[in-house]
Amino acid sequence: MNKLVEKDLKYVWHPCSQMKDYEDLPPIIIKRGKGVKLYDINNKEYLDIVSSWWCNLLGHSNSKINKEIKRQLDKLEHVIFANFSHEPAIKLCEELIKILPKGLCKFNFSDNGSASVECALKMAFQYHYQTGSPQKTKFMCLSDGYHGETIGALSVGMLDLYAKIYKPMLMDTIQINAPDCYRCPFGKCRDNCDVECFKFAEEQFEMHGAKTAGIIVEPILQGSAGMRIYPPLYLTKLRKLCDEYNVILIADEIATGFGRTGKMFAFDHANVSPDIMCISKGLTGGYMPMAITVTTQKIYDAFYDDYLKGKAFMHSHTYSGNPLGCSAALAVQNILREDNIVEKSNKTAIYLNEKLKERFLSHKNVGEIRSINLIHALELVKDKNTKEGFNPNLRIGYQIYKKALSKGLILRPLGNVLYFNPPLIINKKEIDKAIDICESAMEEILN
Ligand SMILES: *Cc1c(COP(=O)(O)O)cnc(C)c1O
Repeated sequence: MNKLVEKDLKYVWHPCSQMKDYEDLPPIIIKRGKGVKLYDINNKEYLDIVSSWWCNLLGHSNSKINKEIKRQLDKLEHVIFANFSHEPAIKLCEELIKILPKGLCKFNFSDNGSASVECALKMAFQYHYQTGSPQKTKFMCLSDGYHGETIGALSVGMLDLYAKIYKPMLMDTIQINAPDCYRCPFGKCRDNCDVECFKFAEEQFEMHGAKTAGIIVEPILQGSAGMRIYPPLYLTKLRKLCDEYNVILIADEIATGFGRTGKMFAFDHANVSPDIMCISKGLTGGYMPMAITVTTQKIYDAFYDDYLKGKAFMHSHTYSGNPLGCSAALAVQNILREDNIVEKSNKTAIYLNEKLKERFLSHKNVGEIRSINLIHALELVKDKNTKEGFNPNLRIGYQIYKKALSKGLILRPLGNVLYFNPPLIINKKEIDKAIDICESAMEEILN
């Protein structure tokens, strides 16, 4: 075993991993990256079609982002953000207001997605506390939702894989059955339904709306649930229902923001605005840990008063508004605008969609190919007719992942769902190569 690998295993406890699996699949030590490609210490090339955990938006080692961070580095690396500010943060807010859904205009900075979710939950709770509805203390969320790993975020996350063990530690939340378009309980299909499943939300609001402070959703795309995609109409209806019951609508756009779904934000598909939005991941192009909880003037105003009234939002993170993060985010905004990245990605997505369907639509184990912009998921099933999935204990997705890795493709699965969520700048040649490797890895495992 390589010396570095040995030392890694001696010291590092890797995230979201059973470390014993590393006996069989040791960590791959990456030395450098360029665009969609990563290179390990032996110079082996890997196609990073999972955008290094969905955050790398514009490729690794993007020269424009590199330049902006280096420029900022020589001026100011960090400063306390209470009572102090700096130009990169101010400019960033100015840029983001131009692209955010209407009404979102107040920015609370933190340093990771989970933290921005915690911030949103506290903000919603305190808003009601200070506007005459202190009985509104509960939160609603969608089944199979994912919002991060901290205690509050896990409480509104419904995936057993991450939350189950900790249930006794978590707050009591109200779960709504999420849309499940592949296995629609109403026998409808995604592009031709009236979101009949919205009745599950209506039922819960009727029962619990009065005591509910907020509802958090992953708009359009439930990422960790297996890249599940649902119609925008669901959000339009949810907006109305939230207004009716005075419930704060929180959009977790951590995974969907900045063009991932083909529009700047997933909420743009529904033409309505949330009351609070969490953004991270693509915000800095995957360079720096940074997140923002953005909200409306109305919510902000509920906290604005004389100090002794005790209404301030006493929430902080040491690295709030980190200047290097802001400079990276500013560079990302410039590139998105100047290079028409999102529009171009719409075109590349059509190519990816055609190629994937060509190869896999008739595959005996591909139950569904679902997609939104470049994000594509192949749901692997044992039987296409019954839609019966593989026994999770077989770890089919993981077996294919290992095989694909050996061939130079990072195809990290979500259970039995294989997915592509590449940087928006991926080109056709890279797509062809990724699909070839994906196909041969699947063949070797499934046959
Ligand atoms: C990644 C993710 C989070 C958590 O962000 P971290 O930075 O990993 O804490 C929350 N919500 C969604 C939808 C995510 O994809």
